[in-house]
Amino acid sequence: MVEHASAAINEKGHLVFGGADVVELAKTYGTPLYVYDVAMIRNRARGFKNTFERLGVKAQVAYASKAFSSIAMLQLADQEGLSLDVVSAGELYTAIKADFPREKIHFHGNNKSEEELEMALDYEIGCIVVDNFYELELLQQLCKKKDKQVNVLLRVTPGVEAHTHDYILTGQEDSKFGFDLNSGQSEDALKMALCSPYLNVLGLHCHIGSQIFETTGFKLAAKKLLTKMAEWKEKYQFQPEVLNLGGGFGIRYTSEDDPLEPSRYVEEIIHEVKQQTELLHLTMPEIWIEPGRSLVGDAGMTLYTIGSMKDIPEVRKYMAIDGGMSDNIRPALYDAKYEAVIANRMNDPVEETVSVAGKCCESGDMLIWDLPVPKPNHKDILAVFCTGAYGYSMANNYNRIPRPAVIFVENGEARLVIKRESYEDLVKLDLPLTVSVENA
Ligand SMILES: *Cc1c(COP(=O)(O)O)cnc(C)c1O
Repeated sequence: MVEHASAAINEKGHLVFGGADVVELAKTYGTPLYVYDVAMIRNRARGFKNTFERLGVKAQVAYASKAFSSIAMLQLADQEGLSLDVVSAGELYTAIKADFPREKIHFHGNNKSEEELEMALDYEIGCIVVDNFYELELLQQLCKKKDKQVNVLLRVTPGVEAHTHDYILTGQEDSKFGFDLNSGQSEDALKMALCSPYLNVLGLHCHIGSQIFETTGFKLAAKKLLTKMAEWKEKYQFQPEVLNLGGGFGIRYTSEDDPLEPSRYVEEIIHEVKQQTELLHLTMPEIWIEPGRSLVGDAGMTLYTIGSMKDIPEVRKYMAIDGGMSDNIRPALYDAKYEAVIANRMNDPVEETVSVAGKCCESGDMLIWDLPVPKPNHKDILAVFCTGAYGYSMANNYNRIPRPAVIFVENGEARLVIKRESYEDLVKLDLPLTVSVENA
């Protein structure tokens, strides 16, 4: 019944994750609670990194920190020798606070503000992934003002859109991100960047989608980018050092998902890049990738306490938990599917089908429809699997619900890495309408 890679059941019939009894964790730290299996994150990171090393290809594996950013998480990424993607000043600030090596930080985004670009220049981060002409201008002005040079990648949209099980070739991609590769846009951007005394163009970047289960899309994108690089090498003597193929490697949320091992994605990408560079007489570039979800997604789970239940005979049984779209907005946002178990009753037979309702004031706040479970009791602990990516990072205070705590577990040892928000935290930015006499 527990198909999850790093989960097990102990003698009490409790779910064990990362070597810890999750029912005990719920007791100690309260619910809702995010729990991460640190060994699994390390394994995934090594799966990507070691494959490049084994095949002798220079690479950077950058953790896309938008999936889950916190000081402890970024320290863990650094321990594993990963680079880091940030997409805002807030994520950059977190990286700086975590003492992340600045030269390994890459800054993404389709509308980086002047303040954000200045911050990136001041911290002298590894590179800025330039997205559009406005940014290209702005960045040069800021470099001039600060008398600084900066490494850049140009983000291009290759007209390859990868989805979970297939990919779509589009002539001109309809995306808010990047310079279009098929029209002259990306070439114009390259010319501008090459002319600039402030910008050092390392190469090209693309990101073709997310939750991708096959390699065709990555290979097609690599081929398209390398073909352009070869053209531009002739025309502009542009020697690209870096080919960045983005993230989007899939994970298994439910039994319907069938992802590849990290090593498989990397092996096939390397094979294609090697083949194309030979064919096109290019020198082999460094390959950069940017996994987010696949590093932390199934390494995280959320624990909830089961509360009220509503049985509508012949229709459905609702089982409510003490969280919901405030800590996991993905089902409401894009109909994401999850699996879950009653963590304190792992050996009890499945007897019912329930639908897991959140506690927010929204009919759409439903975490899971039609989940088979043992007959649930109030105060049982529900464990929802694979909430490690875009869970905490998208958590919010809707209904003024405090954001949960986050625990790292390794070798059975638990460590609090993000404190639970307090009610005081919820009002700390609020100002009263009238200033009372005492405070004036
Ligand atoms: C979101 C994003 C990623 C990570 O995507 P995952 O699906 O989490 O692997 C990587 N690169 C860029 C540019 C992104 O926007």
